[in-house]
Amino acid sequence: MTTKGELDFSAFPPGSVTEYTTLVCLACIFDIFTKQFGLAPRSAYSEIKRYSPTISELTSRNAVRPFFDSEEKHPRCPYCNSAKRWHARFDTQAIEGGKTSDAARRALVKSLSKKADQFAVLELKTDQRAAFFDWLDTLRINLDLSEETWLLEATKSYLERREPKVNWIEIFDGLRTVRPSARLSEGWERDGSRLFLSPPLYNEALLVQYLISRSHEHGGRTLEGRLTLLELIRRLRRGGYLTAHGVTSTDQFEILEKLLDEVAGSGKLKLYFIVDRREFLEKVKSVYASYAS
Ligand SMILES: [Zn+2]
Repeated sequence: MTTKGELDFSAFPPGSVTEYTTLVCLACIFDIFTKQFGLAPRSAYSEIKRYSPTISELTSRNAVRPFFDSEEKHPRCPYCNSAKRWHARFDTQAIEGGKTSDAARRALVKSLSKKADQFAVLELKTDQRAAFFDWLDTLRINLDLSEETWLLEATKSYLERREPKVNWIEIFDGLRTVRPSARLSEGWERDGSRLFLSPPLYNEALLVQYLISRSHEHGGRTLEGRLTLLELIRRLRRGGYLTAHGVTSTDQFEILEKLLDEVAGSGKLKLYFIVDRREFLEKVKSVYASYAS
């Protein structure tokens, strides 16, 4: 923990942790507990303190009452119009289980176990494919697709996910272009302000860029310009990527499925959600005080 009480995730490889934030309206919650469930304010207060949102409530892109999302500095509850002092924020970090993150996760969870009511740890069994698309969604939201630099950002994020032990922040510092290099059969090489990737790695980065920016009519935007799925597949076939990965199908959607197995990975995966309940507990207390008075 740092002095601010923020959790420290620096021991985790980038790309293994995804952050979610949602606001909850306590006026709405109190309303639900007192009016709909008919509880007295005191009982409502003790119930609400114990209340732990579900994973989908904490991470959904389409929040429902009493949850909502807002970028505003002084948001109003979209359901009851209450002001900011009635709102609490839940910060949730989703950690992908696996060899590179397990030790750090166990240490973090252990350090939180003494503060059981302040932090909740939830587990979810999922698979690599679903986790990949969640990661892709978060990336799409955080990138500004109107800035050309998003292509480099997306490439860096993919490399961070694929090769978590490499310090990609340093490698991308001051970088101007990313190019494929036929001299490299695998890996990468930085030369001045240019980063050269082996053709397979470069092609996977193109696929990720395609997936982030694809639209039905126009294909996706990549470091190689706008590509439709068919054009992208043609490129991968010419470069020998499909043969090297045993992809023999001629149907573009079947090929895409196989490609997704390559970039997303396949098999089961466990996600661990660390829910920071501190602001929630604090606000519930102050809101109850004003309710009871
Ligand atoms: Zn409300």
